[in-house]
Amino acid sequence: MFPGCQNACGSPNAFQLQRDNMATQNYTFSLSSGIAASITPRSSGRIPYASCPLCDGKQLGDHRHASCAQHPMYKAGLSDEMRWMQCADCKHVFTHGYWNEEALARIFGSANPHQLPGNNPHGSRSISAKMVEKVIRCLGEVQGTWLDVGFGNGALLGAAQEYGFNVVGLDLREQAVELIRLDGIEAHVMLFENYLPPEPLRVISMADVLEHVPHPIPVLQHAHRLLADDGLLFLSMPNDECYAWRMLDRTGQNPYWGELEHYHNFGRERLCQLLRTQGFEAIDYGISERYYLCMEVIARKRA
Ligand SMILES: [Zn+2]
Repeated sequence: MFPGCQNACGSPNAFQLQRDNMATQNYTFSLSSGIAASITPRSSGRIPYASCPLCDGKQLGDHRHASCAQHPMYKAGLSDEMRWMQCADCKHVFTHGYWNEEALARIFGSANPHQLPGNNPHGSRSISAKMVEKVIRCLGEVQGTWLDVGFGNGALLGAAQEYGFNVVGLDLREQAVELIRLDGIEAHVMLFENYLPPEPLRVISMADVLEHVPHPIPVLQHAHRLLADDGLLFLSMPNDECYAWRMLDRTGQNPYWGELEHYHNFGRERLCQLLRTQGFEAIDYGISERYYLCMEVIARKRA
C-alpha cells in the first residue's frame, strides 16, 4: 500500500506538496488526445495500475497523453510520458502508473526552498487564514487538534495554531520537520497511515495531497478512523470540472496533464461521491486561492 510514499523519509515525495502557484511556473508541455494505436507507452520508473484506484474497475481506456519532460522536477532517464487513463465504470481519470521508489528518490532528491517552512510567510499566512476561517465556520468552534498532512511551508499549521487549535504536522521531509519544530510546532516525519494520535482529531487537512497519493482510499479510511465523530476533513486539489480547466484544455494550456507529481484528476462530483463511500459528507465547497484551478472541499465525518 502507498508505495509512492515509502521512499526514504528524508526525501520529498507525495506528501511534500507545497508548490508555487502553477500559474507562475513557466514551463511548457506537449499534449495529445485521441490516442493513436501505434503509441507504445514507456513505463520506465512507473508501477502500472492493474485496475482503477478508486473503484477497482478493470475496463480502463486511454484518455490523454502528455509529456513531463519540461517539468522542473523531471529527471533524465525516467519516462517523460504522462499517459492518462479513464475508468469506464466510475469515469475516474488517472495516470497509467505511479512512480516506483527509485524514481521517487530521483525526482524528489532535493527540497525546493518554497516547499519548506519559512517560504513567503506573510502571503501564505493570509491565504491560510481564510482556509482556517472556513473550517471554523463549519465546525462552529475552535477546539481540539488539527492535523495537517504534508504541511510543506507550514503556513496552514501556523494559521490553525494562531486561531486557537492544538496543531500537529506530518511531513516526510526531515528538514521541514526540523525547521517547523524550531518555531514551536509539533511535527513528525511519518507516513500518515502510521500516525496514531493520543485522542480523536477535530480537523485533518490534506491540502493538495490526494492527487499525489497512488491509492487515495486507504488514506481516506485512515482519516475517518482518526477523526472525532463530528470531525472535519479539509481537502484541496485541482478541479477538472471547472470552466477554466476546460478552457485551458481547449487552448492547449492546461499544465496539469504534464504534472509529474500527480496521479489523479478529480472533479467536484467524483470527489464528493468518493467521500460519501468512505463515510464523509461534503458540506462546503470553494475555490482555492492557493493553487491554480484548485477547489477546496470540507467534509464532515458521518457517524
Ligand atoms: Zn473506477
